Amino acid sequence: MSKKERYEMNKLTKRLRHAVGDAINDYNMIEEGDKIMVCLSGGKDSYGMLDILMSLQRVAPVKFELLAVNLDQKQPGFPEDVLPAYLKSVGVPYRIIEQDTYSIVKRVVPEGKTTCSLCSRLRRGILYRVASEEGCTKIALGHHRDDILATFFLNFFYGAKLKGMPPKLVSDNGEHMVIRPLAYVREKDLIRYAKLKQFPIIPCNLCGSQPNLQRQVVGDMLRDWDKKHPGRIETMFSALSNVIPSHLNDHNLFNFKDLKSDGILPEGGDMLFDEEEIAPTNELSRLFAPQKLELGE
Ligand code: SF4
Repeated sequence: MSKKERYEMNKLTKRLRHAVGDAINDYNMIEEGDKIMVCLSGGKDSYGMLDILMSLQRVAPVKFELLAVNLDQKQPGFPEDVLPAYLKSVGVPYRIIEQDTYSIVKRVVPEGKTTCSLCSRLRRGILYRVASEEGCTKIALGHHRDDILATFFLNFFYGAKLKGMPPKLVSDNGEHMVIRPLAYVREKDLIRYAKLKQFPIIPCNLCGSQPNLQRQVVGDMLRDWDKKHPGRIETMFSALSNVIPSHLNDHNLFNFKDLKSDGILPEGGDMLFDEEEIAPTNELSRLFAPQKLELGE
């Protein structure tokens, strides 16, 4: 590795550790005595997640265990020795589960239909079972900031819901806590990290499934915005942590019916006739320089 690459690696490693550490703290993802099942697909994100969690484990004030788990779904051409060799070399406890979900999906889903939803459901069920068998208290998934934003826009555009992908949630069967330690991490950092670290990536198209068109459209849109409007992705991601239910329309979330003018200001206040001052984000400061924007409510 050249001097420049080493410098870049140090900077990137620090940035990734900070982002993961912040997400862990903000959502109380890891507690003393946790045994965390780290789900590894063999893609750049899950390799990055495992690597960063291992480095945090060495210095964290709380003690926790890691168990790397890969589900070998018996897709044709899956290189079954790659992950065990890697996991042995980094010295993390691991378990490989072999279960032929590939044949089930191929048998059940009609030709030409997308196979991902059944495949993910089967995978989820198996991973939950293994988490129980292994006594894991948390299940860590490798979704990053850009996955979260893409899911938000997919729901916004096609699902008529304001719904993203939470950094922490209780599993469908109510028994497990699922965490996403990469929630604050940029995908481009994970791509760069995987290259510098030379993770032995396993391609994700072995199942032959067609890529989800809507997800692709949203992904292209976000990448395009990121190029044309630097800072926009960061602003949008911050917005997901800054929700004002009284200024949306969901009457199940905010009690509009019983709203009273009784001198108590509801959350978000009344700015109906005011100009709202928008803090200059990177994008806005480039476009407008600090100034007041007339947005209208
Ligand atoms: S891409 Fe293939 S392996 Fe991945 S969820 Fe879809 S069907 Fe399953």
